[in-house]
Amino acid sequence: MTIITKFEKKCSVCGRTSLQPVLGSTNTWGYPDIDLRPPEMQRSTIDIWLVECPHCGYVASNIENELEVPADILKTDEYLTCEGKNFKSKLSERFYKHYLISKAENNHDSEFLSLLHCAWTCDDNDDKLAVEIRKMALKSMYKIEPQEDDEKNALKLIEADLLRRSLQFDEVIRKFKDVILEDKTQNDIISFQIELSMNKDSACHTVEEVVKK
Ligand SMILES: [Zn+2]
Repeated sequence: MTIITKFEKKCSVCGRTSLQPVLGSTNTWGYPDIDLRPPEMQRSTIDIWLVECPHCGYVASNIENELEVPADILKTDEYLTCEGKNFKSKLSERFYKHYLISKAENNHDSEFLSLLHCAWTCDDNDDKLAVEIRKMALKSMYKIEPQEDDEKNALKLIEADLLRRSLQFDEVIRKFKDVILEDKTQNDIISFQIELSMNKDSACHTVEEVVKK
């Protein structure tokens, strides 16, 4: 089960304190989605992957961590309005703000993950923005230079899904038809992505469908 406790945290930007949720433990049950979004219970913990200081609006995985760019960014229109994007949930806004901070900090991994997670939150209530955010996530992903094979393969799987779910079906087929990964399940996921793209299917699918085929 998931255990969440609240702790008093001091914001590294404004110095004021607030009660913030901290994840004690969680577990997973079942299969992830084919873009590696985790299954429950971990899936629901997305609510607290990022926290926001109620006083100054700083968003971070832990508001005690230093902001590495001048704090003025938190007062810009771009930050306050999420660059004019009308997100339907506070959670999507939080991930988008974290993306803006990560971009300013030149942290490509964090920039990409913030957008990917933002897209996941949009899936739950906002299909249109989910497509737009996935296109942005792809752009951020291409800035990452993965070192390890595991990371390279994970990014390939996510890339195929980002392309398909942002309706770029021909791109999935063109880019992945000759891709062969060592791991059988990963290979099967790529084949599944191509099959879905040929059917112009942009819906969410899970790894369970692949392994039980
Ligand atoms: Zn603060």
